[in-house]
Amino acid sequence: AEKALLQSEKLASAGRLASSIAHEINNPLESVTNLLYILSSRVDDPETLQYVMTAQEELARVSHIATHTLRFHKQSSNRTEVDLQALADSVLSLYRGRLQNSGIVATTDCQTSPPLLCFEGELRQVLVNLVANAYDAMRHGGKLVIRAHRSRNRKIGSEGVRLLVADNGTGMDSDVQAQLFEPFFSTKGIGGTGLGLWITKDLIAKSGGTIAVRSTTRAGRSGTVISLFFSN
Ligand code: ADP
Repeated sequence: AEKALLQSEKLASAGRLASSIAHEINNPLESVTNLLYILSSRVDDPETLQYVMTAQEELARVSHIATHTLRFHKQSSNRTEVDLQALADSVLSLYRGRLQNSGIVATTDCQTSPPLLCFEGELRQVLVNLVANAYDAMRHGGKLVIRAHRSRNRKIGSEGVRLLVADNGTGMDSDVQAQLFEPFFSTKGIGGTGLGLWITKDLIAKSGGTIAVRSTTRAGRSGTVISLFFSN
């Protein structure tokens, strides 16, 4: 038990560290990104332009990890009534360019859902992490849907809101599914931190919600549905 406690303390401080690193590097990262953008429009020499573009791509990777995977959100002190349609659209707008370039069609369907009483910054981070994972799973195009509706959870016998993020990407086999909430578990090599879902689960618990995963790698119908439930 002592070992488990030590382990969880280590993880908690790793999480705090990740969060503060993300915040510290975001500002300089943004200014370098802007400077490179200006530079790219002033360079005539094609070879130099190629260097600048490579630098931009590498920077985009760092930025993706810093702002979209690590715990990067303004901590909300109060629960507020969150309009899920607006939140889903705003998260997708962050990804619009990248989704389009990868041939991913993203839609939202949250109009019928009542507003959700939750920590908005945290829920935004959750959606960002789930959308980032769906994007990574559909490198050759696909469909991404964010849906929310009023629902009844029979397991816990309560009314609430169900929020779904579905993709028809690669899916996960049972081995991956068994480990996906573990910190530092990632199948993405250098591109992944393995912290996204671990943090996601923590943030959802903080908002009093639950998370469930359905996924299949079966050819022709592979994909993943992440299902969140919040009782109200
Ligand atoms: P990371 O994205 O940095 O790898 P996560 O904790 O977000 O870390 O995810 C852990 C692993 O779960 C991923 O490496 C991937 O293998 C798997 N995964 C998560 N979401 C999806 C998804 N929508 N489709 C396929 N695999 C997924």
